[in-house]
Amino acid sequence: MAEKTGLLERLQRDVVMGAEGYVFELERRGYLKAGPFVPEVVLDFPDAVLELHREFLRAGAEVMVALTYYGDREKLKTVGREGDLEMLNRQAVRLARQAAAASDALVAGNICNTWVYDHHNHAETAAKVRQIYDEQVRWAVDEGVDFIIAETLDYLGEAQLALEVIKKYNLPAMVTFGSTQETLREGVSHVEACKIIAQAGADVVGLNCSRGPETMLPLLKDIRQAVSGFVAAQPVPYRTTPTQPSFQALKEKGHERAFPIALEPFLHTRFEMADFARQARELGVNYIGICCGGAPHHVRAMAEALGRFTPASRYSPDLSQHPMIGAAVKEKDKAYLDFWKDKPSGK
Ligand SMILES: [Zn+2]
Repeated sequence: MAEKTGLLERLQRDVVMGAEGYVFELERRGYLKAGPFVPEVVLDFPDAVLELHREFLRAGAEVMVALTYYGDREKLKTVGREGDLEMLNRQAVRLARQAAAASDALVAGNICNTWVYDHHNHAETAAKVRQIYDEQVRWAVDEGVDFIIAETLDYLGEAQLALEVIKKYNLPAMVTFGSTQETLREGVSHVEACKIIAQAGADVVGLNCSRGPETMLPLLKDIRQAVSGFVAAQPVPYRTTPTQPSFQALKEKGHERAFPIALEPFLHTRFEMADFARQARELGVNYIGICCGGAPHHVRAMAEALGRFTPASRYSPDLSQHPMIGAAVKEKDKAYLDFWKDKPSGK
């Protein structure tokens, strides 16, 4: 088989479509626990992981991201499974590779914020973080990944450690920051952090998770202007606003916090995520995907908005064939059309 085209070459040519949100989706399906969000599913229900990889692939994702998010030694300790650490990390890459083998999709290793790092105690915590990243990246490389994604980082210092480790293995590095707060924890802006990390050798920089399209796009615009290399954007598909800029901040009137398991009232439609994909491309974003909350129907709509025909596009909507809102409503059904017309919203 001809060798796969690598990430950087693909990014030179066109937008690369990513897709994430595995942890959230598999939690909804009943295969892992909200709270710790440790991807135990990789070992306990590997078929469920493989199936979701395939669904994202069919929807147009060009990258299968190994489900090692929160699969590090500290996180596994919280669910009493540190003994499964290496097995989980290796198995996650194998599943991603297995799914990718059906196409020319790339396989990404994945590391993320560790909850261990503390910039006030850099020396001690950096050593622990380095060990976490080093073993996860080493296993990923050993199992055969095309590049590494380090993501949802909220410290510049932790991002620098991630980059340092990835570069030791001579793989392309994509480093994306979370943007829950207005700045990273050191007080550095996201734009400045992207600039610094790009200068330090990250091949792709940007943002993922935390923000929905409305509040991520303004930041992306500034990042695009500040860096000359590739930019990535994988927002959550939730209706964040200037007053509730991250999905952690979302709250419905009269309700408790919606994050992380009562977010449905804020969910974006596939059409809104398709708009995001178009807008991000117009801004010059190179790697466009989705994060927590994202599902295959979003990804397919985003890919199609970028002009692509995906394997799942065969079943893309055709509402003209709907019996009541379609093109050919039967005489006997017309009397019922009133029921389908606009109603007051009820609120
Ligand atoms: Zn996420």
